[in-house]
Amino acid sequence: MNSRRDFLQKLGISALALHLAPLSGWANSKNNTEAPYEGRVLRVAIMGLGGYGTRVAEAMQSCTKAKLVGLVSGTPSKIKDWQSKYGIAEKNCYNYENFDSIKNNPDIDAVYVITPNALHHDMVLRVAKAGKHAICEKPMAVNAKEGQAMVDACKKANVKLLVGYRMHFEPKTLEVIRMRNSGEFGKILFFQGQCGFKIGDPTQWRLNKQLAGGGSMMDIGIYAINGSRYMTGEDPVWVTAQETKTDPVKFKEGVDETIQFQFGFPSGAVASCLSTYNMNNLDRFFLDGEKGFAELQPSTGYGPIQGRTHKGELTQPVTTHQTVQMDEMSAIIFDNKQPVVPVNGEEAVKDLKIIDAIYQAVKTGSKVTISY
Ligand code: NAD
Repeated sequence: MNSRRDFLQKLGISALALHLAPLSGWANSKNNTEAPYEGRVLRVAIMGLGGYGTRVAEAMQSCTKAKLVGLVSGTPSKIKDWQSKYGIAEKNCYNYENFDSIKNNPDIDAVYVITPNALHHDMVLRVAKAGKHAICEKPMAVNAKEGQAMVDACKKANVKLLVGYRMHFEPKTLEVIRMRNSGEFGKILFFQGQCGFKIGDPTQWRLNKQLAGGGSMMDIGIYAINGSRYMTGEDPVWVTAQETKTDPVKFKEGVDETIQFQFGFPSGAVASCLSTYNMNNLDRFFLDGEKGFAELQPSTGYGPIQGRTHKGELTQPVTTHQTVQMDEMSAIIFDNKQPVVPVNGEEAVKDLKIIDAIYQAVKTGSKVTISY
C-alpha cells in the first residue's frame, strides 16, 4: 500500500480527482494518516536527456511536490520516447535552438540543466533570461568566475538558482551533521574524503576538457570538496595539492586523472582527500573529533549510504536521493524553506573557488590561500 494511487483508491476518490491530483499534489502515502499535500507543485523541464537526466526523471515519478512536465533536448527521438513514457505535452518540448521561448510557457516553473559541465553556464543564463527558476547539476560551472556570473544573472532575473547537491538531503549524512552540531564529536580535528572510480570509454565528454572543464576533480573530486565542508561545518582557507598521471593519452592536458589534496580550516582542523578517475572502491568519508568519529562508506553513491559513528551503526532510512532532493527544492523555491546545508548558487561558487585553488596548487606546487 505504498503508491499514491493505492492511497486514493482506498479513500474511494473518483477517477476525475485522480486525474486532477498531480496538479495539487499529494503527500507521499507511506502511511495513510498523512494529510494530502495541497501546496504548489514545482513543474520542471529537464534539459539533457542523458544518463543522469534519466535517473532524475525516474525518481521524480515518486515526488509529491515536484513533477516532470517538460523536456529540452537536441535529439528528437529521445523527446518522443520520453513524451510517451512520462506523458509530456508537445507544447512543453523544446530543442536547444527554440528553448528561449519557454519564457512564454506558463506551465513550466523551472528548468533542470543536466548537460555536460561546460554547458551549464550558458544554459543557466538562458534559463534565467526566460524568467524560470534554474536547477543545475554539479559542478555548477567550470570555474568560480562563470559560477558567480550565474548567481548574478539569476539574482537579476529574480529566479532561484539551486544545484543538484543530493547528499544535502540524505538522512545518514544529516544525522552526522546533527551530531557534529550538537557537539557529540567534540572539536573537529580531521576529515578524509576518498572519491573516485575507474573511467571507461576514452571518447566520452568527461575526458574532453572543452566539455568537462577538467577531469576527475570536476566530476567526482567535487564530492570530497563539498563533503569536507558539510562534514566539518567549515570552509577551507588553504589548500595544497599534487597530481599524478599514469596515462597521458587517455587523460590529456587539462584533464586530471588523480589529485591528492589537503585543506586547512579556520578552526585548525585539516583534511586529506583523493580524487581519481583511475581507481575503484573509493567512496568514503571519515570525520574525526576529540570525542568521537563518523565514517560513511559508501558516502556519496546513489545508495544505500552506510555509516557508523563511535556510538554505533547509523540506522536512518534509505531514500531515493533525487526524489527527496526535488521535493525539497520545491519547498525551497515556493516556501522559502532553508535546508540544513544550502544548495544555492553561492554554495556552488564556494566549491568552484576551491577547485580553482586546487588546480592552481597543482600547477604551482605551492600552498594556495582561499578567500570567499
Ligand atoms: P550523459 O553523457 O549521460 O548525458 C549528457 C546529456 O547532455 C546527453 O543527453 C547529451 O545528448 C546532452 N548534451 C547536450 N549537449 C551536448 C554536447 N554539446 N555534447 C555532449 N552531450 C550533450 O552525462 P550525465 O552523466 O547525465 O551527466 C550530465 C551532468 O549531470 C554532468 O554535469 C554531471 O556532472 C551531472 N551528474 C550528476 C550526478 C549526481 O549524482 N548529482 C550524477 C551523474 C551526473
